[in-house]
Amino acid sequence: MFGNGQELLAFCQKENISISDAMIRRECDLFETTADEVQQCMLRQWQVMESSVEDALSKNLTSMGGLIGGEAKKLMKRQKEGTSVCGDITAKAVAYSMGVLEVNASMGVIVAAPTAGSSGILPGTLKALQEKYHWNDSQMTDALFCASAIGLIISEKATVAGAEGGCQAETGSAAAMTAAAICELMGATPEISLHAAAICLKNVMGQVCDPIAGLVEAPCQKRNGIGAANALISAEMALAGIPSLIPFDEVVEAMGHVGRSLPESLRETALGGVAATPTGCAYKDKLRQKI
Ligand code: SF4
Repeated sequence: MFGNGQELLAFCQKENISISDAMIRRECDLFETTADEVQQCMLRQWQVMESSVEDALSKNLTSMGGLIGGEAKKLMKRQKEGTSVCGDITAKAVAYSMGVLEVNASMGVIVAAPTAGSSGILPGTLKALQEKYHWNDSQMTDALFCASAIGLIISEKATVAGAEGGCQAETGSAAAMTAAAICELMGATPEISLHAAAICLKNVMGQVCDPIAGLVEAPCQKRNGIGAANALISAEMALAGIPSLIPFDEVVEAMGHVGRSLPESLRETALGGVAATPTGCAYKDKLRQKI
């Protein structure tokens, strides 16, 4: 049905449908099932995403490595006090996204979107926007289908794995998926969604994967928070009519190439980047002593 962004756009234009509709049709064809069934399945994913945001804000979570915990609540305190420097939606999106990483790191239930390490960006940002715009479950489910189409293309044409392509592939892809979904939720065309996804990915081109002590906690959690802001700002630019000068497919291809060019030490081995700094190594030694 579609294997890249250009084919996705052509399909949407030919059928006069949204990206989410195109993805639903693909799922129905592939699994020989009905739109209702795939939508119900996606609704369940959305409900799990919502629960993970709620858990982060209501429970006292302790991460396995002890490197993170309580960040979402700290951010929400500032947002509630009205002292946030980045506005209500962004403040909430960042808090929720970082909160989901706390849930993930404490072995709670999350939806890998596209991976566990980048699981905060999509639910956190969409939940913050839903609270502002009061979108219903059906609209949120559609947004996830739109995001899935972008994630699918990136997975097939490049990668969404930090071990293969660095953090650009994980949190970058999650942000790109989110940016596209935001545009569709705001009523924009499929073309605008692809511009938003391209802008988002370009923004993190070359970002390495360097988890401290090899744990998906830091810098992962903060990259989810900033990924949420990346998604919001990229969507804002695309919605304003500012295009990505480089088409989505070419950006994805470039991201894959950059990922393959990264040395092994910067692809989830915890042997480079901030993981290899004196402080990063000290955290690792401290954790080893605890075991
Ligand atoms: S630093 Fe590595 S493990 Fe952490 S979110 Fe990024 S890609 Fe995933």
